[in-house]
Amino acid sequence: PGVQKLSPYVPGKPVEELAREFGLRAEDIVKLASNENPLGPSPLAVEAIKASLPELTRYPDGNGFALKQALSRVFSLQPEQLTLGNGSNDILELVTRAFVSPEHEVVFSEHAFAVYPIVTQAVGAKAVVVPARDWGHDLEAMAAAITPATRLVFIANPNNPTGTWLGKPELEAFLAKVPERVIVVLDEAYTEYVEDADFPRGFDYLTQYPNLLVSRTFSKAYGLAALRVGYAASHPQVADALNRVRQPFNVNSLALAAALASLGDQAYLEASRAINREGMLQLEHGFRELGLSWIPSRGNFVAVDLGCEAAPVFQALLREGVIVRPVANYGMPNHLRVTVGLGMENQRFLEALTKVLDRG
Ligand code: PMP
Repeated sequence: PGVQKLSPYVPGKPVEELAREFGLRAEDIVKLASNENPLGPSPLAVEAIKASLPELTRYPDGNGFALKQALSRVFSLQPEQLTLGNGSNDILELVTRAFVSPEHEVVFSEHAFAVYPIVTQAVGAKAVVVPARDWGHDLEAMAAAITPATRLVFIANPNNPTGTWLGKPELEAFLAKVPERVIVVLDEAYTEYVEDADFPRGFDYLTQYPNLLVSRTFSKAYGLAALRVGYAASHPQVADALNRVRQPFNVNSLALAAALASLGDQAYLEASRAINREGMLQLEHGFRELGLSWIPSRGNFVAVDLGCEAAPVFQALLREGVIVRPVANYGMPNHLRVTVGLGMENQRFLEALTKVLDRG
């Protein structure tokens, strides 16, 4: 029954599809729809992939030994705490499959990432959706929503598609309140973009909270969305449970090699952050000029409030060769989510938006 009621995940429109539909040239299309890194992959990742090509006939290292070793070193973790996933979506599914049964409840926020209801309903469990506060997670209300049937809580920090984030005091108060039998999944897909000195990082709480699982990805700031690599850090016993339910070779060799190389490319990560910082200012400035409000974001994307139904504006932007993301399926019919792109891409989007809204 849960599967019957599922709405499938709707990805960003592919460039090729739009080019076909409107007779546009692919190179003239700007895609700011999937929170991808506009810089392209790290050159070190491309080199690592080339070096791995002769090994394509071999199965990958199913335990991801080298990548786990490197992650352990970089983040001061034990390899036994790590689980690798086919993107962090895989991690979200693994933790749900390992711990949640149809009699359980899973708590998450309104306007939270779309994969949480999918993985919950796919195992036949009940989704408990807690109303948001100022578009973000209301952690007090989420803690109050925990019942004896609750098995899992999903928190995204920052959250997609709102870009909202949680500070240390709120997160710490929440973790202290959650009973140990409830697994807290802290989804940190965008954490690398957050530059605030006092921003909470889930890894710092793993020792204190054995029921905490932190998921991260190479798809965003590390620019490897196509390869599908994510990882989780948790108590070794939780990692062991995830390891039992995962596919034996869930992360492929090219992805393992590229992730390892990207992890060591600090200059690339810094450049990605700088592009995001500048691009975010550019978009905010553009919105201000257009008299539009937006939800302040710590991700590599921002949800802008059009003050009217966003679907026709999304369609009109497509005709201008600009792909952004409608978020009506997240209960946000007046917003569009825009990924921060390169300066030229942001400019193309703002010009198209000005034209479409007839504010020129
Ligand atoms: N969590 C959040 C909050 C996201 O926005 C995304 C990407 N849209 C993911 C997880 C999954 O990303 P991936 O599977 O590419 O790691």
